[in-house]
Amino acid sequence: MAAWRSVVLTIFPEMFPGPLGQSLAGKALEGGIWSLDVLDIRDFARDKHRSVDDAPFGGGAGMVMRPDVVDTALAAAAQKWAQEDSSDDQATVKKAPVIYLSPRGRLLTQDLVRDLAAGPGVTLLCGRYEGVDERVLEARDVLEVSVGDYILSGGEPAALVLMDAVVRLLPGVMGNVTSPDEESFGEQGFEGLLEYPLYTRPAEWQGRTVPEVLTSGHHEKVRRWRQAQAEEITRTRRPDLWARYTKGRG
Ligand code: SAH
Repeated sequence: MAAWRSVVLTIFPEMFPGPLGQSLAGKALEGGIWSLDVLDIRDFARDKHRSVDDAPFGGGAGMVMRPDVVDTALAAAAQKWAQEDSSDDQATVKKAPVIYLSPRGRLLTQDLVRDLAAGPGVTLLCGRYEGVDERVLEARDVLEVSVGDYILSGGEPAALVLMDAVVRLLPGVMGNVTSPDEESFGEQGFEGLLEYPLYTRPAEWQGRTVPEVLTSGHHEKVRRWRQAQAEEITRTRRPDLWARYTKGRG
C-alpha cells in the first residue's frame, strides 16, 4: 500500500516533524507508513531578502502573506504530488486536499480526521502573520481547517495536531497499544461519547479504591458500567455532543 503523504508549506521547516518524529508516529514515519515533505515558503520568495509578506491593503496592523509567493510554493507542492503519484493509477487515486490551517476554517473533527486518513494524504499550508492573501486561497481551491476557537501564532502547531490525529489511524501505526474503536469519538460501541474513567494498579491508592465492577471479572457488567459512565460524562461536560448522540439514537 502507498504511504499516506503529507506535504507541509511553512516558513519554519525546522518545526517538522517535531513531536511527530517521536513515539509511534516517529516509528511509522521511519517505517514508511506515512511520509513528510517540508517546503520552506521562503525558497519561493522573489527578492534577495526572501520576504514572503507585505503590508495589508486597506491598512491595519500586521502583515499578510503574498499570493504570488504562496502560489509558487503551492505549485511546487502539487509538483511533488505529480511525481509521487506516478506509480499509482492516477485515475483512481483520490485527490489529496490542499488545507490552509486557519481559525476561520471548518473545525477539525474525528469525522474529518477519518476522511483524511482514508485518502492519499494532504498538503498543509501554515500561515503566519495575519494570514494569507485571500486570492490565492480562491485560485487554488484551498480548504480551510481550524483546530479550535482560539488564535495560534502560526499554522505549524495546528498542522502537527492534524497530522498526529490522522497518523494514529493509519493501519499499522497503533498496533495493539490501544483500540481506536473504543475511545472518545470512536467508531463502535461508544460512538459519539466521551471516554469513561480509566483505572490501573494499584487497586488502592491514597485511600482511593477502584470501582468494584472493574475487578469483578464480569465483562458484560463492565461494559454496561462503562457505557453508563460515558453517557453521564458526555451529558454533563458536553451538552452539544450529548444532543447529537441522543438525536442519532432517537
Ligand atoms: N489574523 C487572523 C489570525 C492569524 S494567526 C485572525 O484574526 O483570524 C496566524 C496563523 O496561525 C494563521 O494564518 C493560521 O495559519 C494559524 N492559526 C491561528 N489560529 C489557528 C487555529 N485556531 N486553527 C488553525 N490555524 C490557526
